[in-house]
Amino acid sequence: CGIVGYIGYRDAFPIIIKGLQRLEYRGYDSAGIALFDGNQINLAKTKGKVEDLKKKAKDISQKGSIGIGHTRWATHGVPNDVNSHPHYSNSGELVIIHNGIIENYEAIKQELTKRGYTFQSDTDTEVLVNLIEEVKKTENVKLGKAVQIALNQVVGAYAIAVFDKQKPDEIVVAKLGSPLAIGIGENEFFIASDASPFIEFTNNAVYLEDEEMAIIRLGKEIKLRKIKDDSVA
Ligand code: GLU
Repeated sequence: CGIVGYIGYRDAFPIIIKGLQRLEYRGYDSAGIALFDGNQINLAKTKGKVEDLKKKAKDISQKGSIGIGHTRWATHGVPNDVNSHPHYSNSGELVIIHNGIIENYEAIKQELTKRGYTFQSDTDTEVLVNLIEEVKKTENVKLGKAVQIALNQVVGAYAIAVFDKQKPDEIVVAKLGSPLAIGIGENEFFIASDASPFIEFTNNAVYLEDEEMAIIRLGKEIKLRKIKDDSVA
């Protein structure tokens, strides 16, 4: 399983696809990608290999300099197209990719269902993106803070990357258990499970610690936060 993200000025699609291929050694059963083309999010995902994703992605616009890609090793829900990542929140505003397991997803899912949320997939991940959405709405906070609050309610392991259609120049990432590295270039950032997807572009890398998150925004310094520290973000 693996995560690749890009935010900058180059075409994100080839960087993400190539990056996912470099992470293939980690093993996976499905792959997916979401790209922001400056106007809307275009998403393709499929059971199978990154090669299959490349074929499937011919149906969508591959434009955009911001995007996230994922290879999945199914833990909750069989390997199929619907359970593949990325996953949207109910409003369609948030998009997430996740490696790891949310152990208490059933209880959270029940609570969200009571509040009117519906779910397309059988994954724990789709529960997490909707929890983030619910926190963002009810607490009226920005994405970074919503991710932080949501992760404090979660038991499990994760490397995640989330973006918000309303604020598409920003990607929020967080880690506990699963690895996550950020490559820092000139006016561009790379996100990946290890440095191999971005090694040709920069050797300036930050490896997130467990229980650490980062708010990555184009044209800004990365903001690193402790997930347990609720005084900031
Ligand atoms: N638990 C998530 C799922 O089954 C993520 C699996 C992974 O690490 O790729 O969809």
